[in-house]
Amino acid sequence: MSIIQKAVADQREFFRQGHTKPYEFRMNQLKKLKKMLKKWEPAILEAVHTDLNKSEYEAFATEVGFLYSELDDHIKHLEEWMEPIYVKTPITHKGSKNYIIKEPYGNVLVIAPWNYPINLALAPIIGAIAAGNTVILKPSELTPNVSALLEEIIAETFEPGLLTVLEGGKETSQELLDQRFDYIFFTGSIPVGKIVMEKASRHLTPVTLELGGKSPAIVHKDAKLDLAAKRIVWGKFTNAGQTCIAPDYLFVHEDVKDKLLVKIKKHIQSMYGKDPFENTDFTSIVSSSHFDRLTGFLDNGEIVTGGRSKRERLRIEPTVMDDIGWDDPVMGEEIFGPILPVLTYENLSDAVETLQDQEKPLALYYFGKNEKDQKYVTETLSFGGGCINDTLYHIANPHLPFGGVGSSGMGAYHGKASFNTFTHQKSITRQTTKFDYSFRYPGSKAGLKII
Ligand code: NAD
Repeated sequence: MSIIQKAVADQREFFRQGHTKPYEFRMNQLKKLKKMLKKWEPAILEAVHTDLNKSEYEAFATEVGFLYSELDDHIKHLEEWMEPIYVKTPITHKGSKNYIIKEPYGNVLVIAPWNYPINLALAPIIGAIAAGNTVILKPSELTPNVSALLEEIIAETFEPGLLTVLEGGKETSQELLDQRFDYIFFTGSIPVGKIVMEKASRHLTPVTLELGGKSPAIVHKDAKLDLAAKRIVWGKFTNAGQTCIAPDYLFVHEDVKDKLLVKIKKHIQSMYGKDPFENTDFTSIVSSSHFDRLTGFLDNGEIVTGGRSKRERLRIEPTVMDDIGWDDPVMGEEIFGPILPVLTYENLSDAVETLQDQEKPLALYYFGKNEKDQKYVTETLSFGGGCINDTLYHIANPHLPFGGVGSSGMGAYHGKASFNTFTHQKSITRQTTKFDYSFRYPGSKAGLKII
């Protein structure tokens, strides 16, 4: 038996023995997780810095701080979420009680990416253990310090039957996917998402796929341009653009493009300094292959600001590129780096039609004052989720389920949506034995009238 097979077998046995189901057990695990994060917070922030050069402020806000609020939400509501739901009894069911039991799926596999290596590894785990499952986590090999730390601190805190980390690259991931799980939660790229779904289909294992895509920031001519520029710069260049819901490109009304670009330039300078290479807090690109892929995009169009890169430090300046067409390489795939291409439109309905020809993005951001236009854009186009007059903010509200649609993924999590994702809703009719209706049995015509 390989290490992977043994880990899966141990978790199967742990779940079968019923350890994970009681409320007290689940609550204890959530509290342990919170304590673990508090105890190891400095080491976590340091590991994220070593792997990605993320500043302490950014790592706290987007990784650990986010997890504390997710944990608090689960701790506050767990008892209520676990309650069975009693539903109405139709006349045909008179005498019975009808309800839904919240049942854990069982053994969960979580596969995580590198861009928010703590948040995206642990946030699904919060929902999975709150819902009473066991979890094997496969973190990303591209953030080795974070992955090693996660393995160490999780092993110190949790029984491996409940939660364990198996480090490794795609081979480990594939061997894990060859095992039988009851639920798979994958965050990563679209091509790997397809592999996960194909492998999951062999055991008919349900999946959540948190994928990516090209998320537009549309700026209409009635937008508050200075605020739009500031919020787009923040959303795009946080984590050096390596955010699944970062605005991938700017789609702006042609009348306001020039003014907007001046403001974007100004906000890049005020957030990252005149020389971003001097800014020690600007996140680096995760690997040299991603660096080469990104710098390859810089050959097209006209650089409005930025454009310099340093391979030895894996840094690329916050860059804005004008004169970009839909057929340019930078528009051919998710950018996932600090490069913002700019495209324009003449009227909003043409812009919407153009976007309808693209794959459904994970996020969409619309900037404009007119409420009819806001409604038109957000209700006509299909996308995972997004903001009106802001970027990224929707992800931080635990009351908003987060997830993609179409090629940006399936399923959702955060807050109660996480608990629901890892919970099977088991419907029960508890029938009375005090009386019996004849209408449902063969030969009765009354039943037809009632139904
Ligand atoms: P990735 O798909 O390359 O890797 C994700 C995980 O899958 C890693 O743990 C990796 O080891 C594993 N993996 C890689 N190749 C595999 C294979 N052939 N078979 C099985 N497993 C494999 O993604 P990434 O580069 O780590 O992350 C970037 C992508 O993730 C972007 O597309 C981004 O949009 C997306 N993303 C989505 C979200 C979201 O919440 N929707 C969040 C973050 C990142």
